[in-house]
Amino acid sequence: MLRVGLTGGIGSGKSVVARRLVERGAVLVDADQVAREVVAPGTEGLAEVVAAFSDRILDADGALDRAALAELVFADDAARRRLEAIVHTRVRARTAELIAAAPPDAVVVNDVPLLVEVGLAPAYHLVVVVQTTVATRLERLIRDRGMSREQAEQRIAAQADDARRAAAADVLLTNDGTLAQLHAAVDALWSDRLLPYEENVRHRRAVRTHRVTLAEPDPTWPQQYARLAARIRHAIAPADLRIDHIGSTAMTGLPAKDVIDIQLSVPSLADADGPLAERLADAGFPRLPGDWWDSPRPAGSGRWEKRLHGSADPARPVHLHLRVTGSPGWRYALLMRDHLRADPDRRAAYLMLKRELAAAAPDSGAYATAKDPWFDEEQLRAEEWAAGTGWRP
Ligand code: ADP
Repeated sequence: MLRVGLTGGIGSGKSVVARRLVERGAVLVDADQVAREVVAPGTEGLAEVVAAFSDRILDADGALDRAALAELVFADDAARRRLEAIVHTRVRARTAELIAAAPPDAVVVNDVPLLVEVGLAPAYHLVVVVQTTVATRLERLIRDRGMSREQAEQRIAAQADDARRAAAADVLLTNDGTLAQLHAAVDALWSDRLLPYEENVRHRRAVRTHRVTLAEPDPTWPQQYARLAARIRHAIAPADLRIDHIGSTAMTGLPAKDVIDIQLSVPSLADADGPLAERLADAGFPRLPGDWWDSPRPAGSGRWEKRLHGSADPARPVHLHLRVTGSPGWRYALLMRDHLRADPDRRAAYLMLKRELAAAAPDSGAYATAKDPWFDEEQLRAEEWAAGTGWRP
């Protein structure tokens, strides 16, 4: 099963995207609908709202009078929080129930207007944001939803802005063109990403990247890391382990393989082999088969054991290294990152090495071996730098 969060500002075309995904075969869990359901007449939810706010908030038929309730909580923060506590708890529980009831191979799409505002993004395998210019949204809301310009402007202003939503997006669907264009983009997302991603999660299969091609530095790598780290943090909670962005994509401006390297600090390898591995797999980071280790620095005998997880998302390769906190391999990854971040000349030297190796040894096994001598020497420089600056991991 794949859990997809879908959001977008009001009038962006979120409902159109949701409908199209359902046509392709997705199971929709609509947050607005769930929010209505949990306070429908006869529910415990409604009884609780009445207990908190009196029956002033009921209409003549005994249903929730949304306008009256909105007015009541509009100017009263404490009242609004009380209401949200009642409604959100129930929406969360009911949403979890609906998701759990979906078939094991379902792509579940949870359409949540305030997904970013409420901070739900890390709970999904993927967050899709529909983005449309404000001018177009106003036009559509006035044309199709009968809103006045003032109403539409107010509704738009009350939500997160585009930049905040975009930062939470794994997939940004822009909808300033025709409906046919939007449908085509959704169809491609469905078949190229959501379906294979779902299958990979279900089979605990990570996407492998065998060939080494250097990509130009992507300024969004740090943002992508932040989203992945938040997802990992959510998946392993209540455990609270250190997570770091390491490797070449963690160094600003350095061309690199388009694979985000992440280090998850574990108390022991036994912990890495425990329930943690399964939680990571559920969240889309299955363990890569086989044994994994780092070559000791300086190169010598023995090896630095670790566990390696990958990504089930076909469009976002990840190497998730589980290393024991304080171990030499753990420290080394952090030291080299910080040393190379601090020294542009050494970064340039590293890039030259990468270019040579990528041209000569496109197979990633050979690539890793050929880096050894360079890294042995660089480690000496890094240790000098660490001693000189008082660096700590
Ligand atoms: P949301 O659910 O994000 O509030 P909707 O999906 O309901 O927004 O879209 C708002 C309105 O704009 C709807 O009437 C929809 O049919 C229309 N719409 C959405 N996308 C387009 C498009 N590309 N071209 C024309 N109309 C569109």
